[in-house]
Amino acid sequence: MNQLNVSVTQLTGIGAQTAQRLEKLGIRVIQDLVFHLPIRYEDRTRVAPIGSLMAGMTALILGRVEFIDVLPRGRKGLVCRISDDTGSISLKFFHFNAHQHNSLKPGTLISCFAEIRHSYAGLEMTHPDYQILFNPETPITETRLTPVYPLTEGLSQTTIRKAVKQALTLCENQAELLIDWIPETILKKQAYPSLADAIQTLHAPDESVTLTALENGTVPALKRLAFEELLTHQLSMQKAKNKAKAWRAPSFYGDDAANALFLNNLPFKLTGAQQRVIAEIAEDCLSTHPMMRLVQGDVGSGKTIVAAYAALLALSAGYQVAVMAPTELLAEQHNRNFSHWFKGFQTQVVYLTGQLKGNARKAALQSLVDGSAGIIVGTHALFQDSVNFHKLGLIIIDEQHRFGVHQRMALREKGQQDDSRPHQLVMTATPIPRTLAMLQYSDLDISIIDELPPGRKPVVTCVIPSERRQEVIDRIEHWVEKKFQVYWVCTLIEESEVLECEAAEKTAEQLTITLPKVRVALIHGRMKSADKDAVMQAFKNHDIDLLVATTVIEVGVDVPNASLMVIENPERLGLSQLHQLRGRVGRGDNDSYCLLMYQSPLSLTAKQRLGILRDSSDGFVIAEKDLELRGPGELMGTRQTGAVHFKIADLARDADLLDAVQLAGAQLYNESPHAIQPLCDRWLGTSTDYAEV
Ligand code: ADP
Ligand code: MG
Repeated sequence: MNQLNVSVTQLTGIGAQTAQRLEKLGIRVIQDLVFHLPIRYEDRTRVAPIGSLMAGMTALILGRVEFIDVLPRGRKGLVCRISDDTGSISLKFFHFNAHQHNSLKPGTLISCFAEIRHSYAGLEMTHPDYQILFNPETPITETRLTPVYPLTEGLSQTTIRKAVKQALTLCENQAELLIDWIPETILKKQAYPSLADAIQTLHAPDESVTLTALENGTVPALKRLAFEELLTHQLSMQKAKNKAKAWRAPSFYGDDAANALFLNNLPFKLTGAQQRVIAEIAEDCLSTHPMMRLVQGDVGSGKTIVAAYAALLALSAGYQVAVMAPTELLAEQHNRNFSHWFKGFQTQVVYLTGQLKGNARKAALQSLVDGSAGIIVGTHALFQDSVNFHKLGLIIIDEQHRFGVHQRMALREKGQQDDSRPHQLVMTATPIPRTLAMLQYSDLDISIIDELPPGRKPVVTCVIPSERRQEVIDRIEHWVEKKFQVYWVCTLIEESEVLECEAAEKTAEQLTITLPKVRVALIHGRMKSADKDAVMQAFKNHDIDLLVATTVIEVGVDVPNASLMVIENPERLGLSQLHQLRGRVGRGDNDSYCLLMYQSPLSLTAKQRLGILRDSSDGFVIAEKDLELRGPGELMGTRQTGAVHFKIADLARDADLLDAVQLAGAQLYNESPHAIQPLCDRWLGTSTDYAEV
């Protein structure tokens, strides 16, 4: 048995509790520790003169305590000033004990490591990592950069560093444990180090490796591992795709009478792009293999009706359809739309929400089992075991980028019958740069709706400072007098939905007071589904003029008469997310406006980013530029679970590897298929199960 595949509890210092915490990070066996790579490094290899410090730097300093004091006012804290020959700096502790207070007497020599920040009294370090030096000769510098690992609650850097060290020693002593799956030819061609060397370098860089090189990703060890990780993703997608090709699926022939009934009921004519994509879908659905198609179209391009047409094909062939949306708000809207569009058809549209309880829920689930409901709309609740279908033939997933690859693949199991699987149609408004598409969606065929419904005018976007808030409020009053409606979006203050909702509540209160003639309402993610539904319906009916909202309205919401949107603190959001939000206006025939009301001062990058949004209404351009400025993790938005999370690869930085990755993927797939599973275990951990689905 490979010793890397044994539980981490075999290492010294790892008991049941630590093991449990490690498991939260996906670390179970020793190999997982080996591939738990640092997220960054700290440079404690030299001591910085205090006089040379600048805000934003992270540094190791050495100095003597000048004075120490407990802050008399405001937030209780301990302040300590230390200095060397070149200058002085304050240390601040908000949590401290008497021992700490007593040990930092004036004259004491200490070393500190932390990020330097500005404060009203000059530069300071908050809660530095510090050490009292009783002997001035004590060496305080490290010879190597210090790795900083991703952590989880209750786990310290020290614990994980010790564990990783043991795991590395094991690899060092038995190099054969760490199998290098990358063919020699590729290693040579790319001038990559061996796997063992690369691993060693990243966990414990030697003196030749600089922090800058690591941060810029130019270290060959890092490139090599990023290459291997990307390659693994590529292989797992390839595997999933090939597996899916072998499945069978029902053919949907379509029904002319039903098609005509459906199209005649629409209040508009389909655009050319919509017709083209519908034809592509119809052809896929005729095949006896499952469709796996991604429909990409900018916000407002009319993807929903295309999906509804696919649903029509399934229904006509006697199959059921599941429609999954990422938020309840959007699911509710789909429920309304689908119910409306399929009114004249002999079927039921069922809406499954968490709020549906008791007998009503039982009845809904029963109608799916007996087949009387042809369409079910819901959020990821559709995955639940209690949901069973009579004959599921098509799965529609809206705003795919909000879901994980696994969720998409897992839902397909719902309609599994022997070797047959339902067709799958996924939709997204988030333009996918080629790089991401290759890794995340390479198992899908792609259709693009590259045309907006006629009469749409681009949304005029203005970037303004929050100092002009009153002006904006006045403008809302005018707007409402003209019988138009308005969104006011409060963005998140921290990664906290509660705070975001509170901010929206406060804003709604204020606006209600300042705008007595305007009918103001509030919507946010923590409201009950029925309440949200009621507010949305009222806004749609124009019983509300101004809707104060959190980013819950980001996806899908469609109220054409709303033509002004104010977004507070847009600098906090990703550009693609802002573009999505902005897509809520500009859906009708009138001129529309989006006011990006930022908090001054705005950093240069932030200014550039908002400028991109002001100058472009093309989701593709925006995404590409955003990728240049920020990197794909942020591009997809950290809250968007659908994005692939890499341990080490960075699509913006490592995009140059992708062509080679694709070639290597094809080579490995043919020449060493046995390498795929071990690679997946190594890089994707248990999340690889999807490759097996
Ligand atoms: P998205 O692609 O963002 O999901 P929707 O499907 O919500 O867009 O459509 C946006 C709006 O455009 C809806 O009000 C829809 O009814 C309308 N719409 C869709 N297709 C057309 C069309 N061909 N002509 C006019 N309006 C359309
Ligand atoms: Mg949509």
